[in-house]
Amino acid sequence: MEFSLTTEQQMMRKMIRDFADTYVAPTAAERDEQERFDRQIFLELSKLGLTGIPLPEAWGGAGADFLSYVIAIEELSKVCASTGVTLSVHISLVSWPLLQYGSELQKKKYLNSLTAGQKLGAFALTEPAAGSDVVHMKTTAEKKGQHYRLNGQKVFVTNGGEADLYLIFAQTDSTKKHHGLSAFIVEADTPGLTIGAGEKKLGIRSSPTTSLHLDQCMIPVSQRLGAEGEGFQIAMKTLDGGRMGIAAQAVGIAQGAFDYALSYACERKQFGQPIVKHQSIQAKLANMAIRIEAARLLTYQVGWLKDQKLPHAKQAAMAKCFAADTAVEVTTEAIQILGGYGYTREYPVERMFRDAKITQIYEGTNEIQRLVIAKHLQKERKQS
Ligand SMILES: Cc1cc2nc3c(=O)[nH]c(=O)nc-3n(C[C@H](O)[C@H](O)[C@H](O)COP(=O)(O)OP(=O)(O)OC[C@H]3O[C@@H](n4cnc5c(N)ncnc54)[C@H](O)[C@@H]3O)c2cc1C
Repeated sequence: MEFSLTTEQQMMRKMIRDFADTYVAPTAAERDEQERFDRQIFLELSKLGLTGIPLPEAWGGAGADFLSYVIAIEELSKVCASTGVTLSVHISLVSWPLLQYGSELQKKKYLNSLTAGQKLGAFALTEPAAGSDVVHMKTTAEKKGQHYRLNGQKVFVTNGGEADLYLIFAQTDSTKKHHGLSAFIVEADTPGLTIGAGEKKLGIRSSPTTSLHLDQCMIPVSQRLGAEGEGFQIAMKTLDGGRMGIAAQAVGIAQGAFDYALSYACERKQFGQPIVKHQSIQAKLANMAIRIEAARLLTYQVGWLKDQKLPHAKQAAMAKCFAADTAVEVTTEAIQILGGYGYTREYPVERMFRDAKITQIYEGTNEIQRLVIAKHLQKERKQS
């Protein structure tokens, strides 16, 4: 078993860390305050080859492994969780399914512009009455000759309004339940597609989140991703990879908060000595460090499994669940270590605390992850 990063992975981490510190971190608080998405950051990420990091060079990607992708999301999220999720959705939830399930024509049409960062992707599965239970979505795609007519509404779409390309899921036959969903590639300027107002959120406030409205939106059959009825399977496989990205985002948030809290504890004096000399603060820091290390190992394992083309659905659910809980716990403790200052917007741990919460909710809530894990455990027991 190999626990060290390759030279390439270490160099990649250093490059992303430098970029994150010099380009992303300085505006993170201001963008959060103003709830402002900055497309320029995404364009700068593309210059570093990060908008297509784990995609093959043949499609304009950097041809790096998924572990490098995990490291990229972690490093960006350490300073700005919004930037982390923008990239994670673009790669895991849009570019990857296109690579995996797209026809040659679809790949030629879209992949190079996605990996080059000329186009930004978004993934629209959730609906007002279908969150955890996506099979009961109401959006329909009715086949009319060489087109599908899409009608319905999607909610909570990350990159909504900024994306050039939406991967949208709809019912092609509601009687077939899991086999009645299909996926469609929809360009942002397609007539009948309108974008709702941005959500006012607790955290990741510089990542736009909107609803989508589909009103008689005509999509050529050639824009369907995969076979008709394959949508549920595409969504679930895609989310396995997505959860690895969210786990990496959570590890990054936790590490960012930990680093700040540790430095603060070494500087801040009370009762005549730095607070890091107090045992209860030391215990907090140790517990935080243990959890982050464990969350990182779980998350890197998923990257490794995906690189080996091995099954990773259970491990992705475990990593996402544990890393998200870790991010919430560690950011809470980071605020506690900073005392009253931690509670103010003068210090970044307050933003990190708000950003951490979403990792327990999106791409399948942690309650749903535990159901996924339990299902795998029962299946494994039967097989053993
Ligand atoms: C900021 C943000 C960005 C998002 N980005 C995207 C995106 O890009 N694309 C997209 O498609 N969606 C996105 N989502 C949606 C997100 O994935 C859903 O919010 C999430 O899956 C939960 O669905 P829900 O909100 O409808 O909650 P519900 O499904 O209504 O769940 C409510 C509560 O009930 C629990 N629950 C539900 N069913 C069960 C069960 N069987 N057992 C135990 N507990 C259960 C849940 O865990 C949760 O605690 C985003 C959401 C947010 C807030």
